[in-house]
Amino acid sequence: MIDALATKVRGGGRLDRAEALELYLRAPTSLLGRLADEVRARKHPEGIVTYIIDRNVNYTNVCIARCNFCAFYRPVGSSEGYVLGFEEIFRKIDETIALGGGQLLLQGGHNPDLPLEWYEDLFRAIKERYPTFRLHALSPPEVVHISRLSRLPVPQVIERLVSAGLDSIPGGGAEILVDRVRKLLNCYNKATADEWLGVMRHAHEIGLRTTATMMYGTVETAEERLEHMFRLREVQDATAGFTAFITWSYQPDHTELGGQEATGVEYLRTLAIARLVLDNFDNLQASWVTQGGKVGQLSLAFGANDMGSVMIEENVVRAAGASYCMDEIEIVRNIENAGFAAKRRNMHYEILGDPIFRERAVPRMLELAVARADGDTSRAPEVVNYPARSATEKKARLTGH
Ligand code: SF4
Repeated sequence: MIDALATKVRGGGRLDRAEALELYLRAPTSLLGRLADEVRARKHPEGIVTYIIDRNVNYTNVCIARCNFCAFYRPVGSSEGYVLGFEEIFRKIDETIALGGGQLLLQGGHNPDLPLEWYEDLFRAIKERYPTFRLHALSPPEVVHISRLSRLPVPQVIERLVSAGLDSIPGGGAEILVDRVRKLLNCYNKATADEWLGVMRHAHEIGLRTTATMMYGTVETAEERLEHMFRLREVQDATAGFTAFITWSYQPDHTELGGQEATGVEYLRTLAIARLVLDNFDNLQASWVTQGGKVGQLSLAFGANDMGSVMIEENVVRAAGASYCMDEIEIVRNIENAGFAAKRRNMHYEILGDPIFRERAVPRMLELAVARADGDTSRAPEVVNYPARSATEKKARLTGH
């Protein structure tokens, strides 16, 4: 059976659910890796592995969704809650540009006191100041949250965000796109599987490109991981709007759910089966932020053709106990040591050029930046320009605390 499936993959055949499950559960890891590598080489015969220089900025950690696998969020009114001010975000953009970056990956908690107008004003302010800078922003559950807050349908919210400067949508918040799992993770209410996919379908239909992600290793079965991939494959068949798929393992430290992290071998097997199932996705990213540089490098032999982002700032994975730092020099070293040519790209996977540090001097990043320095509890000056929705924020404004 495994041999027949390997022959089918090598002949370019499409796996169905039962076939994918058989390979995922029973094929030797070395065979899964070889098959994924062959598919990767068919799609990317030029021997290039790409990466992007961008900055992952979390504009707020205040969140009403309360997913039980998340160590990042703070409830409304928490003394550790923050919203970044526009000037703080501009400074982060300046630092990103100094490192050769041209994009922010902007995501945050579901903050009830930030209405749609706050996002529009932020995006417009960024585009006015940095006209060519790209905004890869707001995962589908954030879009759903803004749609509920503003009582506007999702398509209208996306259209308004695009008019304000949104360039593309990151695939965060997908976790596992099966509602049984989402209910157990307390993330069904933030967005059901259909709502997540619906945001992406709409975005693709109006010409936006997006990524897709999967966080595995909580309460889901192997069948449910594959169901997630098949649902993505169906949308991609219809729209061709996903640029890439990124998977990572659940990071359990400091979360309500707790538990153990999946092993590196499980990561490589999951990445490899994704390369085989997602035959209509061009790009698979290696997730070295959760797996570390070495497993990240090994990913390039298990189906990945991209090393993701040079990490400048990270807050979410760090809150759950893991976070590796690699600047451009390190990323390029990992790619070249694995036998590939390293090239910089943009979000559309267009090649921008060779490593920037070979063209000009860039500061080294040996430590990840954070959203805010420890002990900085300043309030973003813009927030009071928008009506408060939460009782806590209304009271804080009345009492000045
Ligand atoms: S994963 Fe996102 S939506 Fe869920 S609690 Fe954390 S910040 Fe909120």
